[in-house]
Amino acid sequence: MNEPVQNIDAVHERDLEKLLADMGKLEEFKQGRVLCKFCGDRITTANIYSILPESGSINFICQKPECIAQLFEHMDGKRPQ
Ligand SMILES: [Zn+2]
Repeated sequence: MNEPVQNIDAVHERDLEKLLADMGKLEEFKQGRVLCKFCGDRITTANIYSILPESGSINFICQKPECIAQLFEHMDGKRPQ
């Protein structure tokens, strides 16, 4: 699973929970310990934009325009040569 999960808006909250459970992140998420990779804000079902599995860890990105912009810059930098 190397592709980011996009269009979280389209994912039902229950499906998001399943996704988080599959990633072993559901408890952390429910406890408010999941933070945006870029700005460090707490990720909730209301502000989650994307989930980015990366080198053995899972990163979360919030919906702030600057974080989304950083995500795309980050993705560009990660493109295989
Ligand atoms: Zn953010």
